[in-house]
Amino acid sequence: MKIIVDKVSMKFWGGRPTRGRFFVARSREWRGLWRSRRRRPWLLAIEILILLLLGLGAVRGAIAVAPEAPSPESLSPGAYRLPIAAVHPLPPSLAAWRDRAIAPADHYLDLIEPSIAGPLLWTRFPIRVALDFGEDINSPPPSEQARRDRWTQAIRHAIADWSPYLPLTLIESPTDPEASTPDITFRYQAPPLRLDRANPSGIRPIAAAGRATYRLVPIPDPDPRQPIPRLGHRCEIFLTPGRPDPQLLDTARHELGHALGLWGHSDRPTDLMYFRPSNPPNPIRDRDLNTLALLYQQPTHLGWPLQPNPSPDPPNRPAPPP
Ligand SMILES: [Zn+2]
Repeated sequence: MKIIVDKVSMKFWGGRPTRGRFFVARSREWRGLWRSRRRRPWLLAIEILILLLLGLGAVRGAIAVAPEAPSPESLSPGAYRLPIAAVHPLPPSLAAWRDRAIAPADHYLDLIEPSIAGPLLWTRFPIRVALDFGEDINSPPPSEQARRDRWTQAIRHAIADWSPYLPLTLIESPTDPEASTPDITFRYQAPPLRLDRANPSGIRPIAAAGRATYRLVPIPDPDPRQPIPRLGHRCEIFLTPGRPDPQLLDTARHELGHALGLWGHSDRPTDLMYFRPSNPPNPIRDRDLNTLALLYQQPTHLGWPLQPNPSPDPPNRPAPPP
């Protein structure tokens, strides 16, 4: 079920209208699996069909908030509008960074892409991270177990790297009561292929080593007496297993940067959030942290109570005779 909250058009601090942006994915990509449309004309037909389907999805102007199970409330379609945007308190760990930053004006906030909900900030801490190995979680063969351990280790390392700036915690057990609603989920699989619509030289499927996506969800108010949910979000990170350790860590750290709010790419190749991986991998740089600290000082619709929609206007009645 999808909950349509409202139709909105808003401006972000960068000034671009953000109508209809709902699902966003960021990845570092390697491109060009297929070069020639002429040799494979049937591919072109399939691509045009997929593009048409993607295009239909892109013109939707409403916010669809997919409730989680169990749904916090029985939301009815059209019942809610976006919360009013406001600034949340800066997390103390980011405030500490801001206060000791050497060159706080050196950032790339203007390259962070807008979302329909405003900056995609976390407002409850610690941010809870889960790992999802798919259906087959029990007693894999030793080689597969070693692969999973390396994958898990890379994520632990990435979490440890970001934790001094935003508190993160890894949900260790699937029986943890919090495990059903993690904030960020790492998936033990390669990102699904997708089409590169921005490439002027042709439409190509893109493969990626990692990809972060988000969705908007209603989340229960921390005060159980409040019946109206708040606007929240959840992130999913596909992280391709089986790659060398340095690349695994680099991708996990970079995609986690997106999930923490940096939904865009730095223009400087030495930053962690540059769009292309570097060799050796970049650590989290001052510019990444300056941008993150600034981002968390922006007003956002996330984390505030959804606005009940007024009931629709009564139908027009004919004016009474004079
Ligand atoms: Zn990226």
